[in-house]
Amino acid sequence: MTENSTKPNLERVCQTEWIEFRRSHIHGTGGYARKPIPDGTEIIEYVGEKITKAEALRRCEAQNEYIFTVNDDWDIDGNVAWNPARLINHSCAPNCEALIDDDGRIWITALRDIQPGEELTFNYNYDLEDYREHLCRCGAPQCVGYMVAEEFFDHVRGQQALTQVQQ
Ligand SMILES: [Zn+2]
Repeated sequence: MTENSTKPNLERVCQTEWIEFRRSHIHGTGGYARKPIPDGTEIIEYVGEKITKAEALRRCEAQNEYIFTVNDDWDIDGNVAWNPARLINHSCAPNCEALIDDDGRIWITALRDIQPGEELTFNYNYDLEDYREHLCRCGAPQCVGYMVAEEFFDHVRGQQALTQVQQ
């Protein structure tokens, strides 16, 4: 028996060509670049269970935060063990983005050149519903404090300024 065959499966799942999963400074386990990743690289596919919009709504209401909107007909529930991409953290200043290709597959794609050892992040694109329950600890200088899509940054900053004035 070779040494390789005795290694647990988990270890193989937790490492791909570009990425390894280990303890994150942001939250829980995160994904890190194993080697230089060029801008535009499709780093890892975000896989999951294909579900209808109605089922997605039901699961969102049950606090499942891994539902991914693919198109007008169906969503992906990435909250499955065989989707290590679910471990990649959110950031207000991400180095990756989630792109959907012509076949409806979701790829975590590099937004710029990424150096080995950098933690990989993307914006989860949450809307404003209950955003105060999703505190962000990404540590970016421009962190808005909550996990929301970039289009809502100004709104959230405005709310925070308002709160500070009232206190
Ligand atoms: Zn942040």
